[in-house]
Amino acid sequence: MADYRILLLGPPGAGKGTQSKRLADEYDLDHITTGDALRENKEMETEYGTPAEYMDAGELVPDPVVNEIVVAALEDADGFVLDGYPRNLDQAEFLSEETDLDYVVFLDVPEDELVDRLTGRRVCPECGANYHVEFDQPAEEGVCDECGADLVQRDDDTEETVRERLRVYRENTEPVVEHYRDEGALVEVSGEGTPDDVFDRIQDVVEN
Ligand code: ADP
Ligand code: ADP
Ligand code: ZN
Repeated sequence: MADYRILLLGPPGAGKGTQSKRLADEYDLDHITTGDALRENKEMETEYGTPAEYMDAGELVPDPVVNEIVVAALEDADGFVLDGYPRNLDQAEFLSEETDLDYVVFLDVPEDELVDRLTGRRVCPECGANYHVEFDQPAEEGVCDECGADLVQRDDDTEETVRERLRVYRENTEPVVEHYRDEGALVEVSGEGTPDDVFDRIQDVVEN
């Protein structure tokens, strides 16, 4: 099996976590996600304060904290799908010094749909699986299909914080998308339709 190195880009709520998990399972890749890693260390004291102070406000956690997470994760990975990083141009430059990428896939979803996806998101605190109260329900309401844990709503999935995260995305992360587009590396995939539809489109990119 090829050790693909895949970067999934897209706004908050585009389906990066959902699709990354499928890619990791299908191709036996490591799922490297700065968001999950930061949530596991939300109260960790750094010289910049705790990640929670930034995350709960919808702001970016300072680059040195995030870069360190990515370096450690890349060291252990052969093939990987990277999700939630890079989120600004400095992180993109840092990443290019650390590794090459085989595919840069951009998941495109209109903004009003993003708000609906994020405010209805429910996550499993044990295994990280994502659900949606309307679009992707677990078999039993409020319970993770994969591990049986009780689902929760993320602290930053309130409408107010979602709006701020989308603003931060436009300001800091859209230039990253443009950067990969200018390099000719970006493959754009529609993130609309069911998660299965989207996964089929991504598989087309990876396998052809
Ligand atoms: P991201 O990691 O990009 O923020 P997620 O994968 O967590 O996005 O998805 C955000 C929310 O949208 C979750 O509640 C998820 O269940 C839901 N979702 C993911 N893909 C789709 C889709 N294709 N259609 C509708 N809802 C989706
Ligand atoms: P989403 O799934 O909505 O895109 P994530 O789980 O990727 O959200 O990220 C949640 C929060 O974690 C971000 O709003 C930000 O505060 C922090 N974060 C995650 N990745 C990064 C990163 N690469 N740089 C800075 N902050 C990050
Ligand atoms: Zn679970």
